[in-house]
Amino acid sequence: MAGNWKMNKNPEETQAFLDGVKGKLPESSKVQTVIAAPAIDLTTLVAGAKGTPLQTAAENCYFEDAGAFTGETSPKALKDMGLDYVVIGHSERRGYFHETDQDINKKAKAILKNGLLPIICCGESLDQREAGQTNDWVASQVEAALAGISAADVKNSVIAYEPIWAIGTGKTASADQAQEVVAHIRSIVAKLYDAETADAVRILYGGSVKPANVKELMAKPDIDGGLVGGASMDPESFVALANYQD
Ligand code: PEP
Repeated sequence: MAGNWKMNKNPEETQAFLDGVKGKLPESSKVQTVIAAPAIDLTTLVAGAKGTPLQTAAENCYFEDAGAFTGETSPKALKDMGLDYVVIGHSERRGYFHETDQDINKKAKAILKNGLLPIICCGESLDQREAGQTNDWVASQVEAALAGISAADVKNSVIAYEPIWAIGTGKTASADQAQEVVAHIRSIVAKLYDAETADAVRILYGGSVKPANVKELMAKPDIDGGLVGGASMDPESFVALANYQD
C-alpha cells in the first residue's frame, strides 16, 4: 500500500504523520507499506521510518547520478539517503512537466542501477478510455518504460495503473475496470518477458482509493496493492488502508 503525498506536507507535518502511524502499520510480511513524499521531506521520512515496517519513496528523480542539472534529484543520493523506491511517470509529471516515455525508461534504469526500485505509473485519459484505446495506450507506456530492463529487475519493480480520470477526482474505476486493465498489464509483461516475471511484478491500482473502497479493489486477483494520493495524507486513513485485511 503506497501513499503519494504529491506536493503536500513540510518536514514538521511529515514528522506528525510518522508519529500518527507509529506502531499501527502491519508487518511487511503481511502488507508492505510505502510513503512517497516531496524531496524536502525525505530526510525526516527516512529517519522516522527506520526500524518500522514503513518503506520510503521519492516522487521523482533525474536519470543521471550527478552533474550540472540544477534543481534535479540524484537517484544515487536517494539511495545513499536510505530510500527504497522512486515513483516515476506519474500522470502529473507526464502532463505538467512533459515527461516522455523515454525519460521514464531512463529514470527506471538509473533507479535500478542505484539499487532502488521504481514504481512506474501508467494510465489513460478519459478521452482515450471512451475511444477504446485504454489497453493499447497502457501497453505502449509499459513497454516503453521497461525497454532494456532485465526480467530480474522487472520482478522486483512495481507498476501502478492509474487512470487519469480517476486521480484526485473522487471517481474510482470500478474494481472490475481496474482488474481488467491490471490483468492486461500483467499479460503485456508476460509477453515481453515470461509468466514468472509477470507473476512476480507487483501491480498497483491508483485513483481515488480510500478506506471505503480498498477492500473491493484488493480482492481482485491481479491487483496487488494501491497507490493512494489524497487518502494517504491523514495518518488514520493510511493506517486503515494498510490494515484493509483486518
Ligand atoms: C495519486 O496521486 O497517484 C492518486 C491516485 O491520487 P488520488 O488517490 O487522490 O486519486
